[in-house]
Amino acid sequence: MSAAGRLATVRDAIARAERIASRPAGCVQLIAVSKTHDAPAILPLIAAGQRLFGENRVQEAQGKWPALRDAHPDIALHLVGQLQSNKAEDAVALFDAIHSLDRPSLVSALARAMDRIGRRPDCFIQVNIGEEAQKGGCAIADLPPLLEEARAAELPVVGLMCVPPAEVEPAPYFALLDKLARDNGLPGRSMGMSGDYETAIMLGATHVRIGTALFGGRQRIG
Ligand SMILES: *Cc1c(COP(=O)(O)O)cnc(C)c1O
Repeated sequence: MSAAGRLATVRDAIARAERIASRPAGCVQLIAVSKTHDAPAILPLIAAGQRLFGENRVQEAQGKWPALRDAHPDIALHLVGQLQSNKAEDAVALFDAIHSLDRPSLVSALARAMDRIGRRPDCFIQVNIGEEAQKGGCAIADLPPLLEEARAAELPVVGLMCVPPAEVEPAPYFALLDKLARDNGLPGRSMGMSGDYETAIMLGATHVRIGTALFGGRQRIG
């Protein structure tokens, strides 16, 4: 199938899930996660109308997006991967949203970077929803104090993000993230990837992050 065909398929599935969940049409944002894919793979999606993209590494995004955005200034770019504090300025300069805020040191690094650069990208706090030792995200118990710190530092926190444990049913984790967002007064829920985004939409996702279903298998660049 062509990239445009895959995009149409994913958009249809999102619309169907919104309908089944009795949620307003168009309430879910599709983030096309283009990590590992080069400009020739990305251009067909832009041509088909996709304007929101995600990357998981600052350096890789810096290599390919400035040129693509010069040609299409209405493109929005979200960082969905982990962020090192020493890359905070680069991330604030390039991205329109950051989905991986997960620790106090990053709150201060991002606050400093936003003040210096004069841009304030939306932030999602990433929660280690399955309490997995090797995964990014703050512990569930650390969410309220981290959110308080981020708000005190005037970071524009708009929601929560999670990547549930692999190879188990993700629905309980999506439901938990939805509850945490509600309890903390946050409208955004960044959850759902290629294999589980329809379930995530049923459970309240506002942003789904989809790579493989749009691009096919990952390329190796950068
Ligand atoms: C790669 C990635 C995605 C997209 O995953 P697919 O399974 O390819 O859709 C979503 N979120 C994050 C954080 C990622 O790193």
